[in-house]
Amino acid sequence: MKERLKELQQEAIAKIEAATDLKALNDVRVAYLGKKGPITEVLRGMGKLSAEERPVMGALANDVREAIASSLEAKQKGLEQAEVEQRLASETIDVTLPGRPVKVGNHHPLTAVVEEIEDLFLGMGYSIAEGPEVEKDYYNFEALNLPKGHPARDMQDSFYITEEILLRTHTSPVQARTMEKNEGKGPIKIICPGKVYRRDNDDATHSHQFTQIEGLVIDENIRMSDLKGTLEVFAKKMFGEEREIRLRPSFFPFTEPSVEVDVSCHKCSGKGCNVCKKTGWIEILGAGMVHPNVLEMAGYDSKKYQGFAFGMGPERIAMLKYGVDDIRHFYTNDVRFLQQFKRA
Ligand SMILES: [Zn+2]
Repeated sequence: MKERLKELQQEAIAKIEAATDLKALNDVRVAYLGKKGPITEVLRGMGKLSAEERPVMGALANDVREAIASSLEAKQKGLEQAEVEQRLASETIDVTLPGRPVKVGNHHPLTAVVEEIEDLFLGMGYSIAEGPEVEKDYYNFEALNLPKGHPARDMQDSFYITEEILLRTHTSPVQARTMEKNEGKGPIKIICPGKVYRRDNDDATHSHQFTQIEGLVIDENIRMSDLKGTLEVFAKKMFGEEREIRLRPSFFPFTEPSVEVDVSCHKCSGKGCNVCKKTGWIEILGAGMVHPNVLEMAGYDSKKYQGFAFGMGPERIAMLKYGVDDIRHFYTNDVRFLQQFKRA
């Protein structure tokens, strides 16, 4: 039995030495130290030994196991080290190889224009208000002095979902909601950017979905000159310091008086060109003093409070600013178009 154990030890160590990789080494481990291995089998025969021989043989068997185990461990360390060295030698990194360029997206031109306008008004103390795109007829029309059957509703062909619910045709319902929430108290100074929807046949200048930014200021002693001053700052920031604005009388149901606002042409500086259709002026937005009915409907005392409102289309602003000739470019998402608006 003693000889058999010595033999097994030699045999195992020879196989360990011969192993060339970690898998082969593990096979040796399982074969010799496993429960079904030859050493376990030898120990099963210990029952036949005398009481004096048994502990001697047990101790020997343990020594053999330990010798094999420590030999396995040493070999494993050696093999692992060799593997690391081999990998270091074979995997060289060529730091001079040019990298693959990562394609980075950019802001959509409309997002960029909307953010530019938002920044401008935030700087003047406005806050940004938002509301639902699926809106109640009440907020979209009635609260804005457009009762059912009012002829001016035809100015805005609408997508109705039910009799009382529609896709908002302008961002003005956000103004109505904000006024209602304030319960007729305190000042309001907001801009409302967002998507709006109107039944329209899409062409170079019309889209059934577009964006709008409206502004609303309500306080005591608000005058038309406050509106004009605000829009002048806006026009100069968006189209250049030399720009001037002019107001022309117009009609909107929710403002009185109402005006169309023109800015002097940024391309020809007012001399007349194809952008301004030879007039020297470009129409950029509609505005006016908030109609007393709109104030009263929202719970404001129109004797005490006044306000002004304005609304513009970021598509139109972007088209003028960047010389885009077709509104559909903003929605077809051709990357050749979009990538021209990379911001530094
Ligand atoms: Zn011009």
